[in-house]
Amino acid sequence: MTRFKPKTSFPALMEAGLYGPPSTQLDDGNGFTVRTFKLNAETAMYTPEDCLLPSKTRDALADPSGRQWVKRSPTSVDTGDLSMPFRAGVEAFISALRAAGATVTIAATLRDPKRAYLMHWAWRIVRQNADPLTVPPMNGVNIVWTHEGPDGKYSRHKSIEAARDMVCGFDMLKLGAAPALNSRHTKGCAIDMAILWDQTLSIQNSYGVTVEVSTTPRTGVNPQLARVGESYGVIKFNRSGRDDPHWSDNGA
Ligand SMILES: [Zn+2]
Repeated sequence: MTRFKPKTSFPALMEAGLYGPPSTQLDDGNGFTVRTFKLNAETAMYTPEDCLLPSKTRDALADPSGRQWVKRSPTSVDTGDLSMPFRAGVEAFISALRAAGATVTIAATLRDPKRAYLMHWAWRIVRQNADPLTVPPMNGVNIVWTHEGPDGKYSRHKSIEAARDMVCGFDMLKLGAAPALNSRHTKGCAIDMAILWDQTLSIQNSYGVTVEVSTTPRTGVNPQLARVGESYGVIKFNRSGRDDPHWSDNGA
């Protein structure tokens, strides 16, 4: 079994530049801050990038909003797409879980910031009355949020209907808040996974110590299991004890 022993603290890694510099912040004109990143080919880390393009450039590549966008840039379920050192910690933690007899089902790892942008703005147009005419563009996403009616003029109704198709396609109808433009997922530093086991789970932490997880629930929300995850640098997201499948490098 591969064991992950963190030698350097995460702030130190950030200082060393391994986590990339802090994100760029842009005002999207609606009182929200847009933070954008681009994937650095060398380090496979997301780094800040100005997302604004001149409108003429966008028009030449225009592709109207609608359901066809949903199948593009799908969210990965592969731990190999995660950023180091989080990836090593996650893979060691999952190996330990499976070796102990737990079932681990991964629902999401790396989410493309472009997909996050599409989800965020489709949701806000439909649920928060965001104006399709003023959605800020994102570099590399040639979506046009506005649609025309039969008279060839801008149709607010058709624009909202197209955004609604995307909200359905992304399965966000029941979502109570806009999906984040940037999260630990878009940086490759988060994983959603369902974890289940029977009886007592005897699992090794990253220090090679066997921990007997005898408490309930026998799921990823178990506090004893959270301590084991921490030893691998995989931190449980604790939203008031809700059974959320989200783990990340910093608990966010
Ligand atoms: Zn998540």
